[in-house]
Amino acid sequence: MIRVKKSRGVRYRSDVFGGVVYVPERDDFFAIDRELAPFAAALSDKWVEVHAPEEKLYRAFASLGICETDPKTKQIAYSGPSFLGRFIELPTVTDPLVLNCFCTSHCPLMCRYCHADDLMQSYREGESEQDLDNVIATASMIPAMVAVITGGDPLSAPERANSLIRRLSKQKAIVIDTSGVGDIDRLLPAIVETFAHVRVSLDAASDENARVRPANPKYSKDKDASRVGAAKTIKTCLENGVPVTVQTVISSHNENLDELRNLRDLISTWGVKNWVLHVAIRGGLARQVEDQADKQTRKRGILPSSGVYGLVEKLIADTERQNIQLDIRCTDTNQTPNSVLLVGSTGDLFTEGLAHHGKVPLYKAGEGRPDLVRSLWHHVDRFGHAKRYFNWNPWMGNGKNLEGLCFPIPKATQVPSVSGATVETEAKFPVKDGKALRELLEVEGFAVACEEKQRDEYYDREDKAFSSLDFVIRLRDTENDSVIGLKGPRFYTESGEYSRVELEFQTRSREASIESLSSKELSPYWFFEKRRTTYRRSRDEAIVCLDEIPLLGEFIEVEGELKQIRDIRTKFGECIGDPERRNYGELFKDHMVNMGSEPSEIKGAEFGPTE
Ligand code: SF4
Repeated sequence: MIRVKKSRGVRYRSDVFGGVVYVPERDDFFAIDRELAPFAAALSDKWVEVHAPEEKLYRAFASLGICETDPKTKQIAYSGPSFLGRFIELPTVTDPLVLNCFCTSHCPLMCRYCHADDLMQSYREGESEQDLDNVIATASMIPAMVAVITGGDPLSAPERANSLIRRLSKQKAIVIDTSGVGDIDRLLPAIVETFAHVRVSLDAASDENARVRPANPKYSKDKDASRVGAAKTIKTCLENGVPVTVQTVISSHNENLDELRNLRDLISTWGVKNWVLHVAIRGGLARQVEDQADKQTRKRGILPSSGVYGLVEKLIADTERQNIQLDIRCTDTNQTPNSVLLVGSTGDLFTEGLAHHGKVPLYKAGEGRPDLVRSLWHHVDRFGHAKRYFNWNPWMGNGKNLEGLCFPIPKATQVPSVSGATVETEAKFPVKDGKALRELLEVEGFAVACEEKQRDEYYDREDKAFSSLDFVIRLRDTENDSVIGLKGPRFYTESGEYSRVELEFQTRSREASIESLSSKELSPYWFFEKRRTTYRRSRDEAIVCLDEIPLLGEFIEVEGELKQIRDIRTKFGECIGDPERRNYGELFKDHMVNMGSEPSEIKGAEFGPTE
């Protein structure tokens, strides 16, 4: 037996392929397959005992910094793709993982490849506090797990950076993206308090760094400011227990194994554990340099050669061979520039253009239409987004497929339940033999907990925006009360059960609820009556609802954990039919259409006076 708890600041989010974990200490995302995801979701901030079948699994998680174990598991350096378990293909993510938030348009450097130049020049004059509010407001509307506070350089505007760190850390993990030139001490208290990760740019240990990342004389007279500043910031952060990544842009200036090895050895001596290599792309100032170079007879461009990926592979292999404890990630957005989301320093939202040179505006903060923040979402490449942050590159692994490159995690035999009061898992079955079913319910320890007639009214906007996405907004009336129910889309298992997020609220008054729904432009579009007998038993949380439906007869809905539902289904198999995927409304409408009714005439289902 060992004890486990979530590592500090680790965030988990479920997704259709399983889930995503973000580990702030390593600034790493991991995609987790469906079978393993419940184990990541079950981690908490408190120590919990786990036993033999799960011990190896949690030790593997701990080796990547996802959790801690007692006795301790040592973390390992890992430079492969961030997929845990089994993935046969690269997944896309439902919501963004990372949102870059511009803190300021000022920067002490003039990097030759600067990718942010088009967002800086025109905004430098007149940065205001009000703009910062817009940055926060836009960031709040984007459900990313991590906010990268960038620029320009956050160290050039420490007041703004402090404000962003403290305000955004309430909703997202924080990464500071800096050249290191400036006074990191002014941000340290906020960084330490929020367990932010600091990424510092350094392209070479040699003088080549100053050639590709020269100082802007308006901000610094020191020609070597970028190297000196980066070194100072990295060391200060490490001395204060702040996790650090060094980020290096591979350009024609440093595309050289010896140059990169020297840099690796230097940062490794300082104690850096994470290194990100960005392959320079034809964007921002690099595009201008390349356009000019195209006109030269002896081309002196900035982009690396096509052999750059082979070079990175050699560098990773050499690092692993020497057992240097450094995670190396490599990003290359040349083919997927529109996979990165950026909030400009005035709160506007952009992505990098693919079919377009420069940044593409997706949302303008000053136009008074916050409802449109995601209206141009379809221009963002979610596949490229996942590829970038899960560190997957097609050149990795000598032609091995993704399945062969996933990080292996020993599977446990027992999958923990993550169902809670806000997740409903159930299955619906037609009743074939009501008498036998009632007898079986008694044999299985179920007793009647409640009998009532329910009348449900379903609400939506006129364009059916919610029901078309399988969302449900329902007002349920029984003899004693009214309840508002909000349900998310259904997720089906292979054997026909489904889960969905469900929230229910007692209403203070039915009339006030209808008024409130109406003020949100929600009106009733369908009603439904049923007689429900609810059965419960003391030994577990399983619930069986026996429903009588107008014209259709009886059905049962079984709620509980998947295992309980499947167990009940096996035991009741003789008295019930196959699982029914349609909801009662769909069943009733299909029945009425089969009986010759026009779909537009079917407004709801209710019992007749004699039923
Ligand atoms: S550090 Fe270099 S790349 Fe980053 S914003 Fe400043 S000039 Fe651009």
